[in-house]
Amino acid sequence: MDHFNYREGVLHAEDVSIPTIAEQVGTPFYVYSTATLTRHFNVFDQALADLPHLICYAVKANGNLAVLRTLARLGAGMDVVSEGEFRRALAAGVPGDKVVFSGVGKTAAEMRFALANGVRQFNVESAEELEALDAVAREMGVRAPIALRVNPDVDARTHAKIATGKAENKFGVPISAARQVYARAAAMEGIEVVGVDVHIGSQLTDLAPFEAAFRKVAELTEALRADGHDIRRLDLGGGLGIPYRQANEAPPLPFDYGALVRRTVGHLGCEIEVEPGRLIAGNAGLLVASVIYRKQGEGREFLILDAAMNDLIRPAMYDAWHDIAPVIEPAPGAERRPVDVVGPVCETGDTFARDRALPFIGPGELVAFRSAGAYGAAMASEYNSRPLVPEVLVDGDQFAVVRRRPTFEEMLARDTIPSWLA
Ligand SMILES: *Cc1c(COP(=O)(O)O)cnc(C)c1O
Repeated sequence: MDHFNYREGVLHAEDVSIPTIAEQVGTPFYVYSTATLTRHFNVFDQALADLPHLICYAVKANGNLAVLRTLARLGAGMDVVSEGEFRRALAAGVPGDKVVFSGVGKTAAEMRFALANGVRQFNVESAEELEALDAVAREMGVRAPIALRVNPDVDARTHAKIATGKAENKFGVPISAARQVYARAAAMEGIEVVGVDVHIGSQLTDLAPFEAAFRKVAELTEALRADGHDIRRLDLGGGLGIPYRQANEAPPLPFDYGALVRRTVGHLGCEIEVEPGRLIAGNAGLLVASVIYRKQGEGREFLILDAAMNDLIRPAMYDAWHDIAPVIEPAPGAERRPVDVVGPVCETGDTFARDRALPFIGPGELVAFRSAGAYGAAMASEYNSRPLVPEVLVDGDQFAVVRRRPTFEEMLARDTIPSWLA
């Protein structure tokens, strides 16, 4: 559920009409709904209510400081995968002891930064990383709290590019090797074992892979305790999917996910950490664009927008579907015709949708991509020298630009011409 609805025939974000924002900000832009972010966080929080838990929002889904601050005020912790994301979490007001640090390639500099800022825990992804972290922590005279990210060899049944829990993926330590690595960790002066971590992929639309993974984690936890490790936290990762096609998709509800967590690992008495990203931010954002042309091709019609793959890469990268809504509500029973919705970038991959049945939308009119709040702006680039798309946050009847569109001058000023070319 979100808070982007038609009111008197005009699409609104909460109480603010989309054309009002477009007039002030220009298109394309992202717009996020505070009420939707809050609702999603609270639903997840309630789903785990009777377990000690911390929701560590995955910053990579949408790292805008205003989004992070909104969630921080609700009590969220954060899951970060780089020093940059760690800095975002801190800048948004999240204390270091609510930040977990994930990722396969943490550098020594990043480890130092995290330790200096009181990181809650490192989710360590290899024996090699463990050695490096031990060295950094000893050099700083501290102990680094760690959970080992285990790879349970479970098929998440999602898009191949966002499946992370199979043996062939680069993530984590094979669960069969985990006890050995924990034994090494326990002997390290710079390391303090606190838990077990798992994350099997993103946009999961079925609970069965979670169940398989969590059962393996429960089994491992008992074995580790028998080995003498004090396992007190379980980080179960993120990955719960959202409906991208409002009409016909119904992924599992957070409530059922919560029940599954209780059923599979609840008896262990651990503090539960979860790292949802998409579930919190995905349906809390729209990408709004203007139609530049309707182009009559040979046997096809193209709707050419001022937004492109550099602004929203999910269709090009993951063959993803986004519902596309005209900002002015079509009359009931309006004729729909198949069109290809594309951007101006010089790649055929710059196609948002093929043969999408849409009512007539003419040049100058606005369209909105739904479910664009996660992995939208966060993955945007300036490809084709298109300035980064701005972001707007709505709360009730107020809205603010929370990242402005850079000027062309700012974009060019980042490049320098070397002296020998001057
Ligand atoms: C990407 C990622 C997440 C968030 O995944 P969602 O599908 O957005 O919930 C959580 N944890 C880790 C380690 C990740 O890499």
